[in-house]
Amino acid sequence: MAQNSFLSLVRENVPLAPFTRLQIGGPAKYFAEPSDDTQLQEVVSLAYADGIPIRILGGGSNLLIRESGFDGLVVQLNSPAFERISFEDHLVRCGGGTRLSHLVTACVGHGLAGVEHLVGIPGTVGGALHGNSGTDEGDIGQVVRSARLMKRDGQVVQVQSQDLTFSHRRSSLDELVILEASLALKKDDAARLTKREQTFWIVKRSKQPNAPIRSAIAFVDPDGGTASALLHQCGALGMYEGGVQLSMAYPNYLVANEGATSDQVLALLERARDLVYDRQGVKLQTHLVVW
Ligand SMILES: Cc1cc2nc3c(=O)[nH]c(=O)nc-3n(C[C@H](O)[C@H](O)[C@H](O)COP(=O)(O)OP(=O)(O)OC[C@H]3O[C@@H](n4cnc5c(N)ncnc54)[C@H](O)[C@@H]3O)c2cc1C
Repeated sequence: MAQNSFLSLVRENVPLAPFTRLQIGGPAKYFAEPSDDTQLQEVVSLAYADGIPIRILGGGSNLLIRESGFDGLVVQLNSPAFERISFEDHLVRCGGGTRLSHLVTACVGHGLAGVEHLVGIPGTVGGALHGNSGTDEGDIGQVVRSARLMKRDGQVVQVQSQDLTFSHRRSSLDELVILEASLALKKDDAARLTKREQTFWIVKRSKQPNAPIRSAIAFVDPDGGTASALLHQCGALGMYEGGVQLSMAYPNYLVANEGATSDQVLALLERARDLVYDRQGVKLQTHLVVW
């Protein structure tokens, strides 16, 4: 009975590659795109009761899916109910499925400063909060006031910033779903903010491969340095494994070409990491989340 309810909410054997920036990897056994919190809660609770593992897919810009795919339920928050943005004075509330680019544009248009430097980072608000995305100008975690989360059993909780920790490309937001976040920004002049955003965008575009190039960040910058400088010093740029290459033009980005596989990505990351460790004694951490 419960199994029938579950199957009515999901699709089976859905290829995940088209949902990711690298466009690599196998299928999800079950895939759901709930229309709102209630339907999300239903599918999560049923999966939890049946012991089915669950993962949340954002924009897929930091994900590597193995060829075997994921033997569980993948949920994507791509319905309008998860993409709402609302303003109250200097606070902005946004759904976890909101495109980060939409959030940035909306805040700048409202004359609110604090996220304009995140322009050009692909993905969703949920993905950005999960990995504390940011630039040299700062991380998204710095402006988080509170977050509404769904636990693995479907229970919804609200957490305040003082109960959260954010560090370089990490957050303590490890409950199942980031449903919504409230960000505290600063009032500023919309025209001035638009100019700042445009400047950040020009710089960002010049430093990253833009779609349709299939790309992903390879390594997290280590303390006191950058992964791209280390890769450069070790002669790793241009290194390749089958159809996957460490970009020559955009250091620290992986580029997937025709025939690329997740095994090749993993092998290339390992070779580059070993090279940097042998030559520079620094152990680089993979930036990509591997499923
Ligand atoms: C060209 C390019 C440029 C980039 N530039 C930057 C940059 O400047 N700075 C930077 O920090 N990163 C950068 N990234 C990496 C990437 O864009 C970020 O990590 C982004 O925040 C990932 O968001 P996403 O929605 O795509 O997450 P996904 O890749 O879909 O998922 C990443 C992780 O977040 C989790 N997740 C996603 N949504 C939710 C949710 N609602 N609730 C709970 N968990 C969730 C997933 O389960 C997964 O573990 C770049 C990537 C590319 C390809």
